[in-house]
Amino acid sequence: MRYYSLNAQAPAVSFREAVVHGQAPDKGLYFPEQIPQLPAHFWAAINDLDDTEIALRILQPYVAEDIAASVLEQIIAETLSFPLPVRRVTTDRSVLELFHGPTLAFKDVGARFMSRCLAHFAGGLQGRVVVLVATSGDTGGAVANSFYGVPNTDVVVLYPSGKVSPVQERQIAALGGNVHALEVDGDFDQCQALVKQAFADEALRAAVYLTSANSINVARWLPQQLYYALAWKQWADKDRAPVVSVPSGNFGNIGAGLLLQRSGLPVKHFVAACNANDAIPTYLEKGAFVRKAAQATLSNAMDVADPSNFVRILALFNNDIALLRTALQATRTSDIETRDTIRSVFNDFGYVLDPHTAVAWHGLAQVAPAGAHGLVLSTAHPVKFPDVVSEETGAAVAMPSSVEGLMQEQLRSIKMEADYAPLRALLQQFD
Ligand SMILES: *Cc1c(COP(=O)(O)O)cnc(C)c1O
Repeated sequence: MRYYSLNAQAPAVSFREAVVHGQAPDKGLYFPEQIPQLPAHFWAAINDLDDTEIALRILQPYVAEDIAASVLEQIIAETLSFPLPVRRVTTDRSVLELFHGPTLAFKDVGARFMSRCLAHFAGGLQGRVVVLVATSGDTGGAVANSFYGVPNTDVVVLYPSGKVSPVQERQIAALGGNVHALEVDGDFDQCQALVKQAFADEALRAAVYLTSANSINVARWLPQQLYYALAWKQWADKDRAPVVSVPSGNFGNIGAGLLLQRSGLPVKHFVAACNANDAIPTYLEKGAFVRKAAQATLSNAMDVADPSNFVRILALFNNDIALLRTALQATRTSDIETRDTIRSVFNDFGYVLDPHTAVAWHGLAQVAPAGAHGLVLSTAHPVKFPDVVSEETGAAVAMPSSVEGLMQEQLRSIKMEADYAPLRALLQQFD
């Protein structure tokens, strides 16, 4: 498989090059030249396959020229080392729990897959690989955790001071070792802008081997297709393809779902559930982008003003907005509605939602046709947002023991102004 730049000003590359470089030289996102097709009997008989076989069938066409099947199988086994259960909450609502990984959020799957691909490719690189990432909350922890201790790699994570939860901050900043946490005096978009500046800095990049681990990296993006396939395997209601609601920020997760739908995954349609950061709902309504600054919300991992993966979704639909509207609806949910949803779902069904999942639940309720069976992707464990959740449910959220230990750890972050000079100075140490 070759990958081309969506800015169309750079040559197509192999999977290996796309992973190692993260972004094309023209700053475009990489996109596969073909979308593999999986036949109807694969989807109809998916229950006969084990999870590793399903993952191999989906991912192998994307990586086959650069990763041998036996290596890919090993990477997949390490990536899918925790359960991804579907819970049927009512006859018409099921939840896919993606939060049972080491950092209790769905980004563990993509981050683990990417770290292992990069470690595999690093064997052929000279010196160290520096993974540079900006996070609004969960990416940082998932990336830090998945690269921690991986030989020949350093991870530099920029996070907005005071805008991530205590658990998220521990997951980013308590590891130490090859994980360097930078607490930036600014918001997520400023962190992202600093990262972009470093990637655009030719002199720095000549000295330091930089790569991104944001969801724009194909090794982060492509494995997210597995959530949807493994949910379909567990889908008890195969005669009613799900309406799938995805809590969306940078639109990587939902983009992966739409990609797999193109390979044959049965889905009725997708709901991109957004919080007050409603760039995409507005775009689908108006047919044009309206710029506005990121707003802080309860579902902070989705506080993204300019979703970087949306260009991939546009590419999937040939930039045809009318066609896109047939496959994708986008919704917006306020913090008040988020709280109301956490409370009512707990009161009515005894099921505890985190704020991100609550946005998806609420978005689905706004648009699902009567009689549809909805699948809500649950992207974070409620314990990551203990205050809001316990305020609405009236009960403390039980801490998994892994998190209890983490909360005792010291933070090792370096405080930084939202300024490029100190970031550059730090990155230069890795040449
Ligand atoms: C990152 C994140 C999202 C948004 O996912 P995208 O792929 O960026 O749209 C939603 N929920 C949680 C908990 C996240 O960490």
